[in-house]
Amino acid sequence: MSHWICVLVQTPAHAALGSVLSYQSPTPLPPGTLVRVPLGTRETLGVVWDADAAQASGEIDPGKVRAIAGVLEGVAPLNASWQQLVTFSAQYYQRSLGEVALAALPPQLRDLSAAQLQRRFKRSKNQPATAPDCAPSHAPELTPEQAQVVAQIEAHSGPFLLFGATGSGKTEVYLHAVADLLAREPQAQALVMVPEINLTPQLEARFQARFAPLYGAAAVVSLHSGMTNPQRLSSWLAAHSGAARIVLGTRMAVFASLPHLRLVVVDEEHDPSYKSGEGARYSARDLAVYRGHIDNAKVLLGSATPSLESWHQSRAPEQGGRYLRLHMPSRVGQDAALPKVRLVDMTHQPRNAVFSTPLLAAIEQRIARGEQCMVFLNRRGYAPVLHCPDCGWKSECAHCSAYRVFHKIDRTLRCHHCGFTERVPRSCPTCGNPDIAALGRGTERLEEHLAELLANVRRPHSASAAFPDGEPVRVARIDADSTRHKGALQAQLAAVHSGEVDVLVGTQMIAKGHDFRRIGLVAAVNPDGALFSSDFRAPERLFGLLLQASGRAGRDAALGVDAEMWIQTSQVTHSLYAALKRHDYPAFAQQQLKDRAQAGLPPFSAQALVRAEARTQEVAQGFLNAASAAAQHADVATPGWADALAQVTLYPAVPMSIQRIANVERAQMLVESPSRAALQRFMSGWQGVLHRSRQSPEGKGLIRWAIDVDPLAI
Ligand code: ADP
Ligand code: ZN
Ligand code: ZN
Repeated sequence: MSHWICVLVQTPAHAALGSVLSYQSPTPLPPGTLVRVPLGTRETLGVVWDADAAQASGEIDPGKVRAIAGVLEGVAPLNASWQQLVTFSAQYYQRSLGEVALAALPPQLRDLSAAQLQRRFKRSKNQPATAPDCAPSHAPELTPEQAQVVAQIEAHSGPFLLFGATGSGKTEVYLHAVADLLAREPQAQALVMVPEINLTPQLEARFQARFAPLYGAAAVVSLHSGMTNPQRLSSWLAAHSGAARIVLGTRMAVFASLPHLRLVVVDEEHDPSYKSGEGARYSARDLAVYRGHIDNAKVLLGSATPSLESWHQSRAPEQGGRYLRLHMPSRVGQDAALPKVRLVDMTHQPRNAVFSTPLLAAIEQRIARGEQCMVFLNRRGYAPVLHCPDCGWKSECAHCSAYRVFHKIDRTLRCHHCGFTERVPRSCPTCGNPDIAALGRGTERLEEHLAELLANVRRPHSASAAFPDGEPVRVARIDADSTRHKGALQAQLAAVHSGEVDVLVGTQMIAKGHDFRRIGLVAAVNPDGALFSSDFRAPERLFGLLLQASGRAGRDAALGVDAEMWIQTSQVTHSLYAALKRHDYPAFAQQQLKDRAQAGLPPFSAQALVRAEARTQEVAQGFLNAASAAAQHADVATPGWADALAQVTLYPAVPMSIQRIANVERAQMLVESPSRAALQRFMSGWQGVLHRSRQSPEGKGLIRWAIDVDPLAI
């Protein structure tokens, strides 16, 4: 006798074939079981799904229902809450169930044959866990602020927003909360997420040092895209089997199978990297909160500059707040004050000055005292554009509506959008003028310029015993270019930690998270751009970045450094800088939320974007506008559709801010509603309309389209 089952598979996006297919199986299989199934001429991984929850597509012709190829032996079915997470994500982010489910599994589970997987399982069972290569560490005694926060986490169910200054010891709170949990519940698992792969090794070392002596090295595993596929599979299996008690990872880890999940930590919860830029475009932070809810796990979001969404959610309960706000305003350590913020009025400096005189003097002074400095500029490369002063030629990309960036190190012009790279021309390609010049400044040029300015400064005697005094000052740079090669970042960070480097120049890569001990001064040389951006989230991001950057200074109270954050600006009276000067995130947030409420922007409304790509703007915009018009009189079966339609605003299609990339024209349409539920209902009904528009004459020439729910960049 044969049983009919529903199976999720990965089908090409928008294919006529749904992602839920029917198969036959000789035995009944519970939902969540991993199976290999035939699909067309190949065999693929599938997940057995609840037949009631997933409507299999198409008419079922009993004679045509194929049999599964086999069950993936040795892997327990994915549990109900994992299935619910997938179902919710697919619905909320408007993607197919199969796409979300299969993307949530490690690639090797999909790609290896059953026999290969069996060998891998056997091997990983026999492999002894490698011992941690770090000294065990003991938990320090909590500060009163930390102790109070930990007690609140014990006492309440959350979700929590831990609003803690940089260096207030948030990580120590996470460690403590995890330690309490593991000690209390013998099987419980914790998921700890960080925004950047770069931050995982440091975090992993801290967690290993604390927990490996108690639970063994295998109790802590990582999950991020910087790992090899075999490593990812092995971490995933360890989490799925329950052997791993702590999973550390980036946003993808939110989908890990954790049958005994009891605690989810989202560190630096405001960070945009929690939002995926492809596929389901999910927010791992938001899914973490949902996951906590269905798994009955506590959720702890932490930040010194929370996202305005989370800040708003953590307002007083009587005002509708749903998160509990916990506050740690002080830095750890006796009189470890937050860095003093100094604004330099650049309108009083010589035009074209990159470093103001007082900032340069302050940097020299710090070096003389044996301290390190960090200079922050959020633009990599040597110069954002090359130009010819004679004829006006600029280094435009032939394929994008953007300039190619000049990289002096290999004398190339590189497009940061499509990757198109060419040698720098000897002379202007238009008029032959040999004097083409760099316009503007990126980190590479800043590093060069600073090294010139500091050429006559020598290192002091006290700097570091390992590095001789009287040598020239060392300026180093860390950005996406300097760290392209594997291991480069670790080596460069080590050079900073060891004291080999005096001044570190870099992009936001150096502003986040790193626990540099000897930095006394942080400077942002040209941050004003974001004040005038058309993106309503730009001020929020700038405030966060500057405050995070300032948090890199004076982290070691024992050094007794009077840390400073310098900001060069021509907007000294701007309210954002005024709030930053006082380290007053709440005041900044209040002002921003007031503006957003007035303008009806998130978190006071919900948004979704539909993006379309075609060879011409007309086609891309035409598709969106046609689908928008069709929505008004479409026959949509979604319950409550008419009601939802009345509550959403569909804006006209417009070109995206970078309108053309790699010869593809890009357009977008914003959909907005004061009601999240109405937007959801509208989008799920409108999806069908979009699919039909694609088949209609208006869809001709369209390359692709995609929905982005809760977009971060409009
Ligand atoms: P945050 O994550 O808030 O920036 P961290 O948790 O990294 O802060 O803590 C900053 C520094 O203070 C770290 O070096 C950490 O080891 C130290 N620290 C944290 N809590 C304590 C404590 N209770 N006692 C002593 N040192 C602590
Ligand atoms: Zn020219
Ligand atoms: Zn390009």
